Amino acid sequence: MDIPSLVSELLQNAERHRASDIHLHQTPQGLSISFRLDGLLTEVKTLDLETGERVIGRIKYLARLKTYQSSLPQDGRIEKAASGTSQDIRVSTYPTVTGEKLVLRLFSGLSTPVFEELHFKPSVTETLLQALRQPSGLILLTGPAGSGKTSTIYASLSFLSKNLKKQIVTIEDPVEQVIPGVTQTEVKELLGLTFASAAKHVLRQDPEVLVIGEIRDEETARTAVRAALTGHLVIATLHGGSCHGVIERLLNFDPDRHAISQSLLLIINQRLLRSFCPHCHGSKCERCLHTGYLGRIPIVELLHKSESLARYVQDRNAPIPELKQTLLKAGQDLVSQNKTSSVELSRVMGDPPQ
Ligand SMILES: [Zn+2]
Repeated sequence: MDIPSLVSELLQNAERHRASDIHLHQTPQGLSISFRLDGLLTEVKTLDLETGERVIGRIKYLARLKTYQSSLPQDGRIEKAASGTSQDIRVSTYPTVTGEKLVLRLFSGLSTPVFEELHFKPSVTETLLQALRQPSGLILLTGPAGSGKTSTIYASLSFLSKNLKKQIVTIEDPVEQVIPGVTQTEVKELLGLTFASAAKHVLRQDPEVLVIGEIRDEETARTAVRAALTGHLVIATLHGGSCHGVIERLLNFDPDRHAISQSLLLIINQRLLRSFCPHCHGSKCERCLHTGYLGRIPIVELLHKSESLARYVQDRNAPIPELKQTLLKAGQDLVSQNKTSSVELSRVMGDPPQ
């Protein structure tokens, strides 16, 4: 097979298997090619040194990068017309001691997810929709990278825009999907357009709903809380590790306990578990590239507006409000329903305490 065909087959194959990224790494033995499937890297092919080098050259050519430059990182994009895929592919190269490393990011999912496609438990969807119907307040999401926060936010935006006809402005880093009817902005740190500065300006655009990709400084936190108290629904992510961690982090950024307790509507902490392949039920087949898994299901714990939450935020010594369900319990339920394995649950949550 010639190199151009080899490369387009690789890209189309990745798309067909719903890979989110393709990793190509030059080693002294050759080129190792892996797909990120449902969050995990799986090696799918190795090529000899010479073929590998020509594949790298072809990808750089398609992404309009300098093909002779291999000692400095470069960023580019392969347009869908050139790749034969249904979407553009972002290409990033990086020099390593054993040769170049290329990561190709496929923006998976052309359509914005709707709630039914997120596979939340009905009670979780109901709680989230109830919060989204409020005219103002703060909805916070937490979870590590790849835990599905962005999908939850996009499904929420789609609901707010389509069903409730809300005027929505987002500040994201980066914009991963363009949603019809939503005003989306990308942070540009180098130009001084940070989450904090964008959030301040965006409020003058008279939004009903404000989405802040991530609260990571005091100024953004204060803007978010103030906006939520002055008639805006604010949706944001924040690193916290747990629902209670989110409250602590927010209080560190903005110590106004009263304002935070008044504005908080809902905190969601989520993870994604890989679910058994529906074609082989975990026993590994061609369709799941012999991993046994295909697709992912979220597990969620949440805290929603209540008197005990408000008391806890206002008073350090008040009892900690209890979660309705913990992440671990949600995961164990899925294991007992035979939707995933306990190995997968341990991979995501760590080993259970002995
Ligand atoms: Zn399978």
